[in-house]
Amino acid sequence: MSKLRFDALKASMSRKPVKVRENSRRSAIYGSNVFSLPLMQTFLPNSTFKKLLISIEKNQTISRDIADQIAVAMKEWSISKGVTHYTHWFQPLTGFTAEKHDAFFETTSSGLGIEQFDGNQLVQQEPDASSFPNGGIRNTFEARGYTAWDPTSPAFIFGTTLCIPTVFVAYTGEALDYKTPLLRALNSVDVAATAVARYFDKNVKKVTASLGWEQEYFLIDKSLAISRPDLELTGRTLLGHSSAKGQQLDDHYFGTIPSRALNFMRDLENESILLGIPVKTRHNEVAPNQFELAPIYEEANLAVDHNSLIMDLMKKVAERHHFKVLFHEKPFAGVNGSGKHNNWSLSTDHGVNLLAPGRTPMSNLQFLTFFINTIKAVNDNEELLRASIASASNDHRLGANEAPPAIMSVFIGAQLTKVLSELEGVTKGKLSPEEKTDLKLNVVGKIPEILLDNTDRNRTSPFAFTGNKFEFRAVGSTANCANPMTVLNSIVAKQLIEFKDEVDDLIVEKELKKDEAIFNILREYIKKSKAILFEGNGYGEEWQKESKKRGLSNNKNTPEALKIKIAKDTVELYTSLNVMNQTEIEARYEIEVGEYIHRIQIESRVLGDIARNHVIPTAVKYQNLLINNVRGLKDIYGENYKEYVIEQLNLISDISKYIEVINSGVTKMINERKKANIILESAKKAEAYCNIVIPLFSVIRKGCDKLELLIDDELWPLVKYRELLFTT
Ligand code: ADP
Ligand code: MG
Repeated sequence: MSKLRFDALKASMSRKPVKVRENSRRSAIYGSNVFSLPLMQTFLPNSTFKKLLISIEKNQTISRDIADQIAVAMKEWSISKGVTHYTHWFQPLTGFTAEKHDAFFETTSSGLGIEQFDGNQLVQQEPDASSFPNGGIRNTFEARGYTAWDPTSPAFIFGTTLCIPTVFVAYTGEALDYKTPLLRALNSVDVAATAVARYFDKNVKKVTASLGWEQEYFLIDKSLAISRPDLELTGRTLLGHSSAKGQQLDDHYFGTIPSRALNFMRDLENESILLGIPVKTRHNEVAPNQFELAPIYEEANLAVDHNSLIMDLMKKVAERHHFKVLFHEKPFAGVNGSGKHNNWSLSTDHGVNLLAPGRTPMSNLQFLTFFINTIKAVNDNEELLRASIASASNDHRLGANEAPPAIMSVFIGAQLTKVLSELEGVTKGKLSPEEKTDLKLNVVGKIPEILLDNTDRNRTSPFAFTGNKFEFRAVGSTANCANPMTVLNSIVAKQLIEFKDEVDDLIVEKELKKDEAIFNILREYIKKSKAILFEGNGYGEEWQKESKKRGLSNNKNTPEALKIKIAKDTVELYTSLNVMNQTEIEARYEIEVGEYIHRIQIESRVLGDIARNHVIPTAVKYQNLLINNVRGLKDIYGENYKEYVIEQLNLISDISKYIEVINSGVTKMINERKKANIILESAKKAEAYCNIVIPLFSVIRKGCDKLELLIDDELWPLVKYRELLFTT
């Protein structure tokens, strides 16, 4: 009998929901572990606090004197809450979060111990972080990177450590993290959108991008997960026959949340609330053991930090509940994968959502302006947007089981489709008074505040307008949202800058009124953005053909998708907005290609090991049992034994056949890996892994999965799909 598997099953079946303490009045504890601005205000002299606010608003460096005062306040507050250490918390390009803890504790020259934390330590640190990916920006033996405080995201307490959100940059100034380019992109979109919003309201001073992410994940019993080397090392199952029952009956989606999972969620939500993450929604997802968590949306930089933080938190809380949380986009073949929808909108400092239809024709013209500019931005940069969500793991999800395809398109619903087609007919140049009235009364004026058909769940649309926001659904569940958010906000910023230029030109050169100029430009944008608008089913052949005709990209895998990241237009886009310079762009590309290669390399090794060390020996064991059985039958029946062993002999030969398939597949895979490894150019190496090594995975897997069905269940060493997916 296979001991590990059955021990794991036994352990998982004996679990009880872990008790949680929860404060039902969440508002009372919300943000208790966050050093928020209002809290900071209670610690600081009024003049100091005002200076800090001005520095934040104007993006200016905070003076040493103010930093010192804030540091002391932070220290006192933290110590009063049991904190002993502080860390600069950042998001290097590994996609994870990083921290290095230092104690507040210091000794004085006279040998006394004190607790100390000053402005210098708050504002800047120099972690010896030479092992983070840098894509060639730094050589490990020379310049080190440093972390610098991001005062727009508040410090928080995690365990007994004060975490200070920071950016991570090289001494030469290049960004080594996800946050730096995101902050620059958010700044660009603020400036560009504010200029456009002022066509409609002169008092607008600032536009903020908001992000509401929806995190999907799987929960698997810890013992079961540990027993599978593939889940432990790669985050997904590399083999395993599908369960007879999967998600066919649709009985999991929005169903009753299993008690163990529910207690995990309650515990997690309680901790999230303490950390100021405004979690709101929880439910079962489509696949068995799959769930979703969503907060109330926030300013995009803060939302990105909160998503990174909650992913860390989920891993930690899962341990307490004897779960392993799987963020992988496709942990199980044949059932739905996990995504992370990024809901995005822009709003002014007056609280007006620029992507929400309003009550007056003017506010609706404002809505249409931002709506159409976003569509145009996506239309013109669809390939870059696709690249922003490319990863080895998301490759498995895009285009499979109800997930959006790798082809980007925008869904807007029937009502808005109609509005756009009417706007497309607007006269060129000056508009007659009748036409203007007609537009105001019958087109723009008739956009309802609540768009009914945007509750339509066109799940296969990668980028859908859902009433007052766009929902970027192609983002993968493991992703750091900063990557897609940097791209989206940059392309919209660039688009809005162009729009403003074009409108101003018409006003000055053609002497058009402001609204006439806007209508004129929007009309042209609608004409130019038709390719990207798609309301149909993103699945299957038809859209593949149609999208090709429209000239849309269809980059099915990461090595193909990433290429655009270093294309001339991309460099031009980022450098013109000061989001990234050429070195930063190239470094990121190298890092992402490198990560892809490593992930596939690891998967390939793990698969080879499992196939040879687990599956084949089990097959041989079972085959020997059958051989003994045949021998025994021969002993009993003598000459007549043949009629009694027909099926056993079939099984024996089938097993040999699959062993051959697996073993030769693994040998071939190892050889191909060796060939790929000596390719110097990283893009070519990634292509070899993608196009030559990966296809061998399915050959090996098929052999293994066939054997899983043939071999005695008691002998099978790996926890099966039905056990992984149906025991919580
Ligand atoms: P679902 O897409 O699962 O049906 P909703 O559309 O209601 O759920 O909301 C999903 C997410 O969108 C939540 O995180 C919510 O906070 C966020 N959201 C709602 N309005 C906005 C907005 N104007 N801008 C950005 N995110 C938003
Ligand atoms: Mg959604």
